[in-house]
Amino acid sequence: MISQTTIDTLRKAEVGARNLFIDGVQTAAATGATLPVISPIDGRPFASIADGNAADVDRAVLAARKAFEKGSWSRAAPAFRKKVLTRLAELVEKHADELAVLGVRDNGTEIGMAYKAEPLSAAGTIRYYAEAIDKIYGEIAPTADNVLGLIHKEPLGVVGVIVPWNFPLMIGAWKIAPALAAGNSIVVKPPEIASLTLLRLAELAAEAGLQEGVFNVVTGRGAVAGEALGLHMDVDAIAFTGSGPVGRRLLDYSARSNLKRVFLELGGKSPNIVFADAPDLKQAATVSANGIFRNSGQVCVAGSRLLVQASIYDRFMDELLKATTKLKVGDPLNLLSDIGAVSSAEQLTKNLNFVARAAEEGARLVTGGERILTETGGSYMAPTIFENVTRDMQIAREEVFGPVLGVMRFDTEEEAVSLANSTVYGLASAVWTSNLSTAHRMVRAINAGVVHVNTYGGADITVPLGGVKQSGFGRDKSLHAVEKYTDLKTAWIALG
Ligand code: NAD
Repeated sequence: MISQTTIDTLRKAEVGARNLFIDGVQTAAATGATLPVISPIDGRPFASIADGNAADVDRAVLAARKAFEKGSWSRAAPAFRKKVLTRLAELVEKHADELAVLGVRDNGTEIGMAYKAEPLSAAGTIRYYAEAIDKIYGEIAPTADNVLGLIHKEPLGVVGVIVPWNFPLMIGAWKIAPALAAGNSIVVKPPEIASLTLLRLAELAAEAGLQEGVFNVVTGRGAVAGEALGLHMDVDAIAFTGSGPVGRRLLDYSARSNLKRVFLELGGKSPNIVFADAPDLKQAATVSANGIFRNSGQVCVAGSRLLVQASIYDRFMDELLKATTKLKVGDPLNLLSDIGAVSSAEQLTKNLNFVARAAEEGARLVTGGERILTETGGSYMAPTIFENVTRDMQIAREEVFGPVLGVMRFDTEEEAVSLANSTVYGLASAVWTSNLSTAHRMVRAINAGVVHVNTYGGADITVPLGGVKQSGFGRDKSLHAVEKYTDLKTAWIALG
């Protein structure tokens, strides 16, 4: 784990003006335009990024295509690709302190969480796919004797990667690592408010031996650089994590351009369901509080709807309130803070609008609901709990992506299932019960990509992550993710 002394030194490091990374070199945007990088810790600018546009995306895609056609990565021996990606994983680990602090200055996640979830998890992901490279085979079809049917797995070509600001390095690695492992070239469009760690990752990849043009980064605004990538005629696929509205746009861009394939990991409104026979109510309450409030609720799988069985409701709410008030919100670069800053002033305003609407619609505010630590100049919000929430309220239907929890009461298992499935989302969920049959029935009944039992969050790279319904389609993580970045080609050979 990183020490406070190291953090305090690194938080003062000069970052300056960061360029795009295209064809192995750092380069300014074609227009020379830049965007300020404002830290949510204190509301102050501490760096700038290039404001890339369609011309920059063109340059990056061209470089990626040239590298792909050249074949020095796409057709390299798997053992070589494995060596380079393993080296990249090592470099990410070696620079974990620097990457973690840089990322926190950019997006405000508490350092304890960011350190594990960003560089360390990204390094683990890169290593996992590096190791997988020489273990993924084509197939021989069971044909008649006079023919040979070979099924080859081939890289797609140029893959666009577009990610959000909550965990850019971790989520980026979930896409970048399998795409590169499969032999693709990539163009990454980082989130405009948290681009710095992905730019650094591209530099480390070059240091690890990845050839020029294979890994390009175009920073800039989503509606400009992101749109250009989505509409580009020479991009074969877009791997996206972000909001539903942008996901819809990407499908539209694909339809209007070259029918590139699009994989969407979108938002959630995940139900966390506590039955009266939960093994340990106190532990369930603590984990539930962490499951919504860590990283200021800016976690796609956050358990933002809490469903509690009526017979234990008051007891559980007491425990939940205790666990919540123990969470210390503060400077994300202080190891003692449990919760850091909301990623931007704009996101904080959105969160507060949700709070106002919940109160207007009749939900009861139990705790929080306000901006705090205003004297810092940063964006901080108190963990917020509403009860008496009903399924038709905005707070029960729409993703806040902030530290806001809506609590509902239920009597029967059927009612819990009906409430759990009552949104357009289907990303994550949890069930707390001591009854094995209840647990298995709930796993079947809940419409979601992930169902936790007697825990919330926590998973490793071996299991897929992704949603159903309007939480998207396609899966990150696990060996299944490689399928998104490969195509099948059939060779049908007459043996004469
Ligand atoms: P966002 O959709 O606003 O932005 C995501 C990315 O898309 C950014 O890089 C942005 O620049 C880009 N973008 C914006 N407009 C674009 C356009 N018109 N064309 C192309 N690209 C464009 O999302 P956000 O606010 O950065 O992140 C929060 C959202 O991400 C939440 O909805 C959250 O649930 C979701 N998320 C999902 C997962 C998951 O695994 N399912 C994980 C983390 C976050």
